[in-house]
Amino acid sequence: MFTDLQQKKVLITGSTKGIGLAAAVAFARQGALVGINSRQKDEAAQDAIAQMEATGARFEYFARDLSTSEGCAALIEDFTKAFGGMDVLVNNAGGLGIRAGLESLDDAAFDLVMDLNLRSAIMTTKYAMPHLKASAATSGTTASVISTGSIAGREGGGLGASLYGGTKAMLHNLHRNWVKEFTKDNVRFNIVSPGTIDTVFHADKSEELRAKIAGSIPMGRFGTSEECAPTFLFLASHATSGYITGQVIDINGGQMCP
Ligand code: NAD
Repeated sequence: MFTDLQQKKVLITGSTKGIGLAAAVAFARQGALVGINSRQKDEAAQDAIAQMEATGARFEYFARDLSTSEGCAALIEDFTKAFGGMDVLVNNAGGLGIRAGLESLDDAAFDLVMDLNLRSAIMTTKYAMPHLKASAATSGTTASVISTGSIAGREGGGLGASLYGGTKAMLHNLHRNWVKEFTKDNVRFNIVSPGTIDTVFHADKSEELRAKIAGSIPMGRFGTSEECAPTFLFLASHATSGYITGQVIDINGGQMCP
């Protein structure tokens, strides 16, 4: 179905676990050339590398900390040197950072969450743009930027996650602006907005809280990373989504229907 993804050069940030890793494996299975990334080559990265090797696809792992602008620039440099360009960028690196109420937030918490969720996506996209524009011009189709937003960016986030929800809302809105700036260059921008997906993101929650959350979802359960992956393929493929840009696609089992 996504045959035009074969040999496409796809960089997925924050992809040694969870949603990013499932997307990376899915792209690899479509015959894409995939770059995976995390801050450091830890146990999760080794495991992700093994999973990518099992697909038989060509891929590279890059250790870069995307909460720094230098790390973002270096990742784009690494990827484009290794693959000779870029057709698809998936900004997936991100996370809660800290769970704390407004009155206990300080500058360190602010910087942590902003850098992890916003600096990472903004600076990585900035440095990727020349390569994505070149890809679209050469192919005569479109290049694609997909960022992982969140249900928290739509409804505010859980208690203590105001900064996280705020960064995701801003990410959704940044895309709307970039559509205005870069559609003339045939670069598309879309958001994948997960609801509650069963990854280490929720490792701090008790069984009781997990059951309560599951009960609030019409489908009665958390989603899986594998259930998110096909939407990244859809939004990356010009054949399936060439006229779709500036959209937020929710994957949430009915948890919120905006
Ligand atoms: P995860 O913790 O399982 O994976 C996060 C990945 O990002 C890991 O590979 C980690 O090594 C990498 N990473 C973290 N900090 C990084 C940094 N500074 N530089 C480079 N890489 C870094 O998380 P997940 O649940 O798969 O979440 C992935 C994305 O989905 C995040 O943007 C998250 O905000 C978003 N999201 C998750 C959920 C959910 O319920 N799991 C819901 C909505 C949105």
